[in-house]
Amino acid sequence: MPQQKQVLEVPEFLTVRELADLMEASPIEVMKELISNGIMASINQQIDYDTAAIVIDGLGYEARPLKMPEPVVEEKESTQQWRRLYADQDEAALKVRPPVVAVLGHVDHGKTSLLDAIRKSNVAEGEAGGITQHIGAYQVSHKGRLITFLDTPGHEAFTAMRARGAQGADIAVLVVAADDGVMPTTREALAHVRAAQVPIVVAVNKIDKANANPDLVKQQLADLDLKSDEWGGNTLVVPVSARTKEGIDDLLEAILLVADETDIRANPDAKAAGTVLEGRMEHDRGALATLVVQNGTLRTGDVVVAGLSVGRIKRMFDQSGSPVTEVPPSRPVLVMGLDQPPHAGDMFEVMESVKVARALVEERRQQRQVAPVEIPAVTLEDIFSRFQAGETKELLLIIKVDVDGSLEPVVNSVQNLSSADMKVHVLHADVGNITENDVNLASASQAVVIGFNVTADAPAERLAEALGVDIRTYDIIYKLIESVELALHGMLEPEYENKLIGSAEVRRVIRLPKIGNIAGSYVLEGTIRRNAKVRVVRRGQVLAENVGVSSLKRFEDDVRDVRTGFECGIGLDGFHAFEEGDRIEFYVRERVN
Ligand code: GDP
Repeated sequence: MPQQKQVLEVPEFLTVRELADLMEASPIEVMKELISNGIMASINQQIDYDTAAIVIDGLGYEARPLKMPEPVVEEKESTQQWRRLYADQDEAALKVRPPVVAVLGHVDHGKTSLLDAIRKSNVAEGEAGGITQHIGAYQVSHKGRLITFLDTPGHEAFTAMRARGAQGADIAVLVVAADDGVMPTTREALAHVRAAQVPIVVAVNKIDKANANPDLVKQQLADLDLKSDEWGGNTLVVPVSARTKEGIDDLLEAILLVADETDIRANPDAKAAGTVLEGRMEHDRGALATLVVQNGTLRTGDVVVAGLSVGRIKRMFDQSGSPVTEVPPSRPVLVMGLDQPPHAGDMFEVMESVKVARALVEERRQQRQVAPVEIPAVTLEDIFSRFQAGETKELLLIIKVDVDGSLEPVVNSVQNLSSADMKVHVLHADVGNITENDVNLASASQAVVIGFNVTADAPAERLAEALGVDIRTYDIIYKLIESVELALHGMLEPEYENKLIGSAEVRRVIRLPKIGNIAGSYVLEGTIRRNAKVRVVRRGQVLAENVGVSSLKRFEDDVRDVRTGFECGIGLDGFHAFEEGDRIEFYVRERVN
């Protein structure tokens, strides 16, 4: 009787290493079997079920597709700021408040036009004069219900708020032009909204145009997991035209539907708190701030702290420029009375007294001096210790690659490194160099940016440095995966490389009996620095390596660096046997990955 083969359950995709583990075989054995079937694959490479089945069969087992359990949608702990604001409020005191809506999307897809169209056609009741003041947001009414729109479109403003710990918007409207479809910034905006866990309504704009193709856009959206409700999905996708106003009412209706589902509430009787939309200084009115109240009711005379600003509210104005004395939740308002303009995205709150308020600001000031970055950025090296400390359960990544074809393999490979305890979650993945937007998203979401065959542009690098965002770039996929894998296990060591910054030629040896020899030199290239390390090279042979610089002089003066084409005197630690014609190469150690 033939012996029954052992059956192995195999997922749709797996790496060579995982396949080896499954069979309790060595990866080499698996690779050999693959090669004998004409397939070259490295240890971390993904292979599909059919390929795995060939190997399994070749090694004497039987493959069967692994039934994947239904994905469990995790109830994420809500990061929505207004939910935190009222978390300790009495349930009975909470009343539904109007949603605050941000408009995002690709440039020129009609965000501003849409905001204008909504503003013009749906001014809140009783506002004969219309919206005359720009206060960073406006309220309109639809069928007797209010909606607040943030007036600065785009995800830059949205993310700038998040980066400061606030979250002004309850709902995001993602605008996609029907004649242009999903574009890079659409995907980027989506990533920002998803990272903030804010519900989305899609407005497919410009449907009046002859070349509009809303169905194609819906297909593209479905590919981004934004399946239209008409197609059995749960995203409200509303065709609109900012030009003809067609569909605007439907869009407002959709926003209210999502608001009802999201259950956006506040306690109007609480002390007011919310988000700063803008701050500015005017010479006649002093520090001005536009605020959107998210909990409680704000009144003139209230003492407010917003970031590092403090003051008693003297006067308030609504969007039509009229003075107001009371501002309910979700209403934007311009206030006077703070000692300095706060920053967009600062949170504000009402305090008991000026004294308490000032004490809080002082405390914040000191904290900022100690720790200028409020939310520390995550690096690949510290993710494991954060995980151990219970501070996180996932590694968030933003991935940029050079070509479309590498997107899926890179994303899949890193996501496959997830374990039961520690998830790898790709917040955003796209083709192109690493930009400031990626860095902002990473900073606001505590993510790491990973580049494959791309570089970070100069502004992105500067911003990353300022915000402490970790950017890693790789040109070998294996290295990329290995780094993430090592990071997840707390085994990633920083890697350094010597980088040549300049070199000098010895033209004359100056003998100083007490000090030792000094090399009178000429800088051939780059800039040589006092705090660098050097190697001394004579006719191609390295005589000394990793030597410190003991002195660097121009004439009699000690200098920090000397540039190409200048002469100088160089003294080294422990090396004095210079000869004319020696080359002194200066290098610094730089972190590579
Ligand atoms: P933003 O960059 O997303 O804010 O886009 P804008 O609102 O500035 O609009 C970009 C261009 O598209 C402008 O020339 C608008 O006039 C035009 N536009 C916006 N909405 C519509 C629309 O519904 N139909 C048509 N035909 N053009 C529109």
